Amino acid sequence: MDTIEFLIENPNVFLILIALLSLMVGSFLNVLIYRLPLMIQNTWNQECREYLGLKRQAKTNDKLNLWLPLSHCIECKKRLKPWHTIPVISYLILGGKCAYCYAKISVRYPLVELLCCITSVYVAWRFGISWQTLAALFFTWILISLTFIDLDHQLLPDQLTFLLLWLGLIASMYSLFSNCHDAIIGAIAGYLVFALTQGLFKLATGKIGMGQGDYKFLAALGAYLGWQQLPVIVLLASFIGTIFGLTHMIIKRQHKSIPLPFGPYLAIAGWISLIWGKDISHLYFYHFVI
Ligand SMILES: [Zn+2]
Repeated sequence: MDTIEFLIENPNVFLILIALLSLMVGSFLNVLIYRLPLMIQNTWNQECREYLGLKRQAKTNDKLNLWLPLSHCIECKKRLKPWHTIPVISYLILGGKCAYCYAKISVRYPLVELLCCITSVYVAWRFGISWQTLAALFFTWILISLTFIDLDHQLLPDQLTFLLLWLGLIASMYSLFSNCHDAIIGAIAGYLVFALTQGLFKLATGKIGMGQGDYKFLAALGAYLGWQQLPVIVLLASFIGTIFGLTHMIIKRQHKSIPLPFGPYLAIAGWISLIWGKDISHLYFYHFVI
């Protein structure tokens, strides 16, 4: 308890610790974002081969998991030394290149680490030393992972959306962001809102506008934040999506609608809703509705 008391008396130390922790978590999220889709594809591949009665394929990434093989350069495959994997700093010292083969390292790696650090420190500052901070940190980290996996693969893995859903329901047992009642309705309503919208859209146009991953993601957000936040999340995500979509069309000079992942917009809207959702819905109901 002494440590907690010390951190309560020295909030800046608490924030510095969170910054360091979240930089390391950001580094792990880079691994997760890169490897989880490969692991899923590998499983699908093997399941399809089994179903078709084909021999198991010995693939190079057959034994890939989140921990093994240890961090290595994607180009030259050489294993990285611990000082090559210090979040952000290693990238800057190495000039964004592999220490062995000088292959360019994507700037996204340090950017994900920085994003993780900034959002985590903000969450810790907003909620202080509390269980809410712990739940909000897991929420933030899962949202960052979902955003980048969806951007890369147009995929929102069940492993992450369900994890978010279960954590949201557990958090609701302790009324961290909503109570059990609101969280369960949030999960059901979140799923149904998108599933029904998609059903009507398909009836009207014959096209698929949204994947099932989006339904599960909104269900998880509803479970974490309660059903009351769903209108804010859907409206914000649609608004942000429209702005990004239009900007994309103007920059790329494309006039046809191209499929864009919706997950990143849901993630941004979900995070804004976690921090300011209650203020936004109060503002809306008291100033515009009443
Ligand atoms: Zn290399």
